[in-house]
Amino acid sequence: MLIVFIGPPGAGKGTQSKRLLEYLQIPHLSTGELLRGKHNSPLGRLAAQYMDKGQLVPDPIVLSMVGEELDKPAFNRGCMFDGFPRTIQQAKSLDDSLKQRGTPLDMVIELRADEAELVSRMLRRAKAENRPDDTPETIGRRMEVYHRQTAPLLDYYRAQGLLTTINAMCPADDVFQAIREAVDKKKSERPVHLAVSAGPASPA
Ligand code: AMP
Repeated sequence: MLIVFIGPPGAGKGTQSKRLLEYLQIPHLSTGELLRGKHNSPLGRLAAQYMDKGQLVPDPIVLSMVGEELDKPAFNRGCMFDGFPRTIQQAKSLDDSLKQRGTPLDMVIELRADEAELVSRMLRRAKAENRPDDTPETIGRRMEVYHRQTAPLLDYYRAQGLLTTINAMCPADDVFQAIREAVDKKKSERPVHLAVSAGPASPA
């Protein structure tokens, strides 16, 4: 299965997509994690200049990095995209690349949450993970970037009939339950590209 997660910073995309990967047994691709993992390379240092300011890393950098990842054999089994695509250009490029591979997206999950709550979640996470891009100064910028550059993707995917919106303001277990139900419904509605694990969901 190929699933995109979209939501404002702090909405729980990383947490929920990692839980879903245990259920579906398909790899998880977080562009934020990939970029942070490259911090010792010239590309990583270039990317950090944008990330530390709460700006998006330029599309060509992100697209070539994702292209390299998708060429890895693990991704033949499907993928859960977390934090990618984040711009219309990235979405179109992903569509083209998946079309060439003959494996279009199965669904797009929007995690919707209110901003005041998100800001407090991000400040808590900043403390816990010591992330340089989660300072109070960059949070406002990242929200603004989400609205301006990423939120238009919701209409883009809604028009393709791919979008499912989940209320991310519930407890994490309830959010996961809603995601799992939406995924199961999607699996029953249309052929997906890969079989999923028949095993039980992992414990909360
Ligand atoms: P995340 O871990 O998804 O919150 O991403 C952290 C930061 O990495 C973002 O604020 C961006 O600076 C950068 N980033 C991650 N994914 C992308 C993307 N798809 N396009 C551009 N920048 C990204």
